[in-house]
Amino acid sequence: MKVMKFGGTSVGKPERMQQVAELISKDQESKIVVLSALSGTTNSLVSIGELIAAGERDKAKLQIEKLEAHYHQFIIKLLQQPGFITKAKEIVTAHFEFLTIILRISFSESLSKDLLAQGELLSTKLFSVYLEEKGINHQLISALDFMSIDENEEPELAAIEIKLKKLIQQHSDKKIFITQGFICKNAKGEVDNLKRGGSDYTASLIAAAIHASVCEIWTDIDGIHNNDPRVVKKTVPIENMSFDEAAELAYFGAKILHPASIWPAQLHNIPVKLLNTMFPEAKGTTITQIAGSVGVKAIAAKDNITVIRIKSSRMLLAYGFLRKIFEVFEKYKTSIDMITTSEVAVSLTIDNQTYLKEILKELTTFGNIDFEENQTIISVVGNEISKTDEIIKKLFNAIANIPVRMVSYGGSPHNITLLVAAADKKLVLQQLNLGLFGLE
Ligand code: ADP
Ligand code: ASP
Ligand code: MG
Repeated sequence: MKVMKFGGTSVGKPERMQQVAELISKDQESKIVVLSALSGTTNSLVSIGELIAAGERDKAKLQIEKLEAHYHQFIIKLLQQPGFITKAKEIVTAHFEFLTIILRISFSESLSKDLLAQGELLSTKLFSVYLEEKGINHQLISALDFMSIDENEEPELAAIEIKLKKLIQQHSDKKIFITQGFICKNAKGEVDNLKRGGSDYTASLIAAAIHASVCEIWTDIDGIHNNDPRVVKKTVPIENMSFDEAAELAYFGAKILHPASIWPAQLHNIPVKLLNTMFPEAKGTTITQIAGSVGVKAIAAKDNITVIRIKSSRMLLAYGFLRKIFEVFEKYKTSIDMITTSEVAVSLTIDNQTYLKEILKELTTFGNIDFEENQTIISVVGNEISKTDEIIKKLFNAIANIPVRMVSYGGSPHNITLLVAAADKKLVLQQLNLGLFGLE
């Protein structure tokens, strides 16, 4: 059994959704198909939630109406037979009635999660109607019946496995299962999600739960490229990559994969394939245990980083000092990405600023604190990169004109990480593209 996940752009237009139906019925292997919301929907739902939270209900209402109109146009192009069009219209109307009810009641965090879940619920239901119209035998299963996270927001893989296997057994005559990416239930039993871009994570968790033969992530580009194609003009796809390399890239900002989407597949050694829905013949990227080659493979950038420096000539030499600092971050459930130390100071970076104020306040007991927002982590990734000839020289030569705030080398054999000002990100990515890959 395999997993096939289709992202927002892969289902964002009626003709794309129709193409997805073709792709999933090409072979005879049983499969679980994971769908994202239609592209733009989750962003729109986020903004509707923000408007409601800000008390701007009229504006929220307008946006809900605009989104609903988009869905009505979508189904008219997706479907042909009046009976199925009516069925799809009823689905859309029911979900948008729910959105309108949200407008009227007092808004809460859990309600905002319900709101965000509508995108994936809609896309999977509409896809199911389309498959029905085409006579493609399948079973729609709700991710809310098996995908769960604990009180620390970590997926409960063992429970997911048990529940999902049971659901599959209940429909043992079916070969195609359709489910939602992104959404789940939390420890309180409420609707929750796996954070933005989370459908990749859903796919990998399902792959691990069913010990899939492969986890295919279908998107709008022909695999992982050597650099961010949104920032750099010339990039090239990478054919093979190891789990470790892909995990570093995903964690350090390559938007093509959710940051946590590699470990579940890696746990059971399940190959992950990145494929292009718009160009299915392209090789894409295959991620396995094997790296394929040694040396620099790709660069990624992670934005919205804050660097905090704790300066304390008195305390740094004392054992237990770093533990006390880390405890502050643990208390506020804020993970540290980069860290560098000197005899008198520690610099570290975070990407979650929710508790920045509280963290800074508590850290003042340990020394002088300064911090700077709007930083970017640049990660250069490649198998055994730290053993690659002259890598450091090439890297720093390529960006000699740009101030580097922090460097992390040796933490992982597959990664060299730099911290630069966000304003320099574009230049750094471009100059590294030339200096490390010879690409403009
Ligand atoms: P989906 O909706 O299918 O989940 P995403 O938009 O989340 O797709 O991810 C695909 C996008 O990731 C690409 O269109 C590309 O712009 C961006 N991206 C960023 N870094 C990379 C990279 N290194 N390789 C390929 N794509 C990347
Ligand atoms: N629809 C969700 C998002 O836009 C999840 C996903 O697409 O992976 O973040
Ligand atoms: Mg994505």
